[in-house]
Amino acid sequence: MFRQEISPDLAEIRPVLRKFTDEILEPIAQEIDRTNTVPQRAVDVLREHGYLGMRLPQEFGGGGHDLLTYCLALEEFSRAHRVFTLILDSTSGLNPIAIAKFGNPEQKDRYVRKLATGELTAAFALTEPGAGSDSQSIRTQAKKVDGGWVINGLKHWISGADKADLILVLAVNDSAKRAKGGITAFLVEKTNPGFHVNRVDTTMGSEAIKLAEISFNDCFVKDSDVLGEVGFGFKVAMESLNSGRLGVACSCIGAAQRLLEMSIDHAKNRETFGEPLSERQSIQWMLAESETELSVARALTYESLRRTHNATDIGTSTSMSKLYCSEMVARVADRAVQIHGGMGIVKGYPVERFYRDIRHYRIGEGASEIQKMLIARDLLK
Ligand SMILES: Cc1cc2nc3c(=O)[nH]c(=O)nc-3n(C[C@H](O)[C@H](O)[C@H](O)COP(=O)(O)OP(=O)(O)OC[C@H]3O[C@@H](n4cnc5c(N)ncnc54)[C@H](O)[C@@H]3O)c2cc1C
Repeated sequence: MFRQEISPDLAEIRPVLRKFTDEILEPIAQEIDRTNTVPQRAVDVLREHGYLGMRLPQEFGGGGHDLLTYCLALEEFSRAHRVFTLILDSTSGLNPIAIAKFGNPEQKDRYVRKLATGELTAAFALTEPGAGSDSQSIRTQAKKVDGGWVINGLKHWISGADKADLILVLAVNDSAKRAKGGITAFLVEKTNPGFHVNRVDTTMGSEAIKLAEISFNDCFVKDSDVLGEVGFGFKVAMESLNSGRLGVACSCIGAAQRLLEMSIDHAKNRETFGEPLSERQSIQWMLAESETELSVARALTYESLRRTHNATDIGTSTSMSKLYCSEMVARVADRAVQIHGGMGIVKGYPVERFYRDIRHYRIGEGASEIQKMLIARDLLK
């Protein structure tokens, strides 16, 4: 089989990650499915094996690994369950990276080390009922007062916000300027009396993964709780998005690879009309299409990763990777369900869960239409 690698240096790491995923993470994934909760063990095993905070600098207790290694881990861990990619993201993704990059010394000292070890968790609060794809039109307001700011507003579908210790929230401080100098990022602790969790939601994916509606009611924060410069919160958010898109793309590749392997296995072992499914051309074609699309996804995403890593021109390749991979995994999952027949849609079988879980990739972190908009805008500028 034709297999590509992110870089020759990482070729030896993949089997280590694969063994860890198969032997340690997969049994926990099955427990998550059975109980619809995330056991503490899921975090503990990742910590014990050095995967928490892997992309954060060592000075903050992180692993000091680069984006390539981090994305490879996301790809491999997503073979077991999306929960593991979320744990990796919470200790090495947008929130800790943004604080490590834009935080003042006090914020770095107070939060980054604890986020890297999973001792604290943070949520990223941008989306509102009236502002999803069009995130610049958020209404949450931050009003300047003596010694700090008062935040008022409502955010919804915020991943992990029900349990998070810290919320990175985006609020408008100058409605004339908005994304061009009028939106600020603030760090709000869950103990702040002005912060409330109103409702916890689940999606059609794993019930263990929670989103929350949260509100800020006359929520006072100090000047020192501003993350980065006043008015430049959008920069804080958007700078993290490029690597976030590549993380999503790699998670899609890992899930698609697992779905294809399950499909091959089932096709070889399931007999109908006296012959294995794998003897049927219609089934072979589905497998061939999935393998081809996976190879294209890897070629595009790994090249984009290498360019991001080497700080060479990436153009809109991160958008293309996120777009292609999230659409690709949906097609691979659909074929996997078809090949598995009833086993593909009855609850308790992994293909059914993967099929539901991967659907959000086409919506979260910039929906497919928004990625196309960015790619076309670049072409037409
Ligand atoms: C599982 C999950 C986790 C999430 N976690 C977080 C989180 O942690 N923090 C956070 O802030 N947000 C989070 N979100 C919210 C997510 O970012 C939004 O759902 C996403 O940005 C899309 O916004 P929307 O759902 O309001 O859809 P809308 O913006 O209403 O879009 C609806 C549809 O219209 C399309 N569309 C929109 N505008 C255009 C246009 N101009 N042209 C063509 N088509 C268009 C979209 O692509 C989409 O298909 C999460 C969402 C999900 C599903």
